[in-house]
Amino acid sequence: MVQESTYKNIAVIGCGAAGGFLSVLLCKNPYNKVTAFDIKEPFSTLLPTGGGRCNLSYDEDDLKEFVKNYPRGEKFLMSVFSKMDQRKTRKLFYDLGIKTYVQSDKRVFPDSDSSAKIMSDLKKHLYTDNFKHIKEKVINLSNNVKEFVIQTEKGSYKFDYVVIATGGRGNGFLLARNLGHKIIDPKPSLTALDIEEKDFYKLSGMGFKNVDASFKIGKKKYNCSGDILFTHKSISGPCIFKISSLAAYEEISLNNPLEIEMRMSSLTDEEIENIIKENSRKTVKNVFSSFVPENFIMVELEKNKIDSNKQAAQLKKNEKEILINSITSLKLHVIGRIKDSEIVTAGGVDLDEVNSKTMESKILNGLYFIGEVLNIDGFTGGFNLQNCWSTAYICSMNFN
Ligand SMILES: Cc1cc2nc3c(=O)[nH]c(=O)nc-3n(C[C@H](O)[C@H](O)[C@H](O)COP(=O)(O)OP(=O)(O)OC[C@H]3O[C@@H](n4cnc5c(N)ncnc54)[C@H](O)[C@@H]3O)c2cc1C
Repeated sequence: MVQESTYKNIAVIGCGAAGGFLSVLLCKNPYNKVTAFDIKEPFSTLLPTGGGRCNLSYDEDDLKEFVKNYPRGEKFLMSVFSKMDQRKTRKLFYDLGIKTYVQSDKRVFPDSDSSAKIMSDLKKHLYTDNFKHIKEKVINLSNNVKEFVIQTEKGSYKFDYVVIATGGRGNGFLLARNLGHKIIDPKPSLTALDIEEKDFYKLSGMGFKNVDASFKIGKKKYNCSGDILFTHKSISGPCIFKISSLAAYEEISLNNPLEIEMRMSSLTDEEIENIIKENSRKTVKNVFSSFVPENFIMVELEKNKIDSNKQAAQLKKNEKEILINSITSLKLHVIGRIKDSEIVTAGGVDLDEVNSKTMESKILNGLYFIGEVLNIDGFTGGFNLQNCWSTAYICSMNFN
């Protein structure tokens, strides 16, 4: 039996990926008394992750390579991951009874391939005697010399330590700002994008594998690759999410579009020229649809008023150029982000004001931040959840 006076009385605001995981780790120590505030069920934000399979990490041991996947937070995470990397995380999950496997693209999933199962597996470790879940929304957080005071819609509660783990959509930014923290303007990231060339929306449902894309912001050129998907009102997929992440702070509009250039096939200009030459008696449509989807080339043919049924030999020089360019360097103009499509939020609590070795505020002792509420966000591939597991673990080390 632990004496009441020897308890560390800790509040965790938000019981999603980071807050939930931290609570699991904290509860292992009977000298911690953990109270998690969340109107949602613990870990329920995991449910939609990885399309219901929970892509919980990425299998890369080289930390310098790993952190390149975070447009914001790279340096801070170098320090965090040096103590808690993906390998150690998977070992910790194993110890909690959750086995994981690496997919061919290096993404890590639970053996169950189920977000619901990982949620219930993690929850099993939560409901110990020293854990309490208060299903209330925190509306204010203040402190005096002695303690922190948490105000919810229903009551007020006192704690020695407070961890803010409210993610990118909660009101943790406001709570942190009220305690003197600087918040980097939150922006949607990993979003689907709207393009000026609406003709391509006719391709709804069509995907392209391993597309190489490039674009410029100011003078800096960015290259990225991955799959893309056309929908009835957007372009989406890992490659597009990466672009949206790198351009999260760009003003994009019809008047100020972001031009992206994409390679839709691995064939070179010369190789396509040769295919056209070798099949000069076939129709333009038949020749091109032998190496790109027919509907895709039809969009280009219609847009440029080129007869799809004429022989390839009859293509004029400029027509040939247009068609080849549409495959090897398709130019699309992004004019906006699709509202509410974001997977994560860029921006958040300024990392300069948080100690990467402890997750403690440099402004206020006893206050901690973990997960997406920090100004950290990564590409798709398991990087955002890895941030949650690692920052939660580092924070838990203060209460061992
Ligand atoms: C559709 C989708 C799929 C995704 N798939 C993946 C994936 O496969 N891999 C990956 O790495 N990442 C993925 N992500 C991103 C990942 O889920 C998030 O980065 C991660 O959940 C952030 O964890 P967090 O604990 O910081 O915040 P959250 O998990 O969002 O948890 C925050 C919690 O705080 C609570 N809260 C907020 N404000 C308050 C308040 N005032 N009082 C009380 N409680 C509060 C919320 O109810 C919530 O439960 C996905 C995101 C989405 C939307």
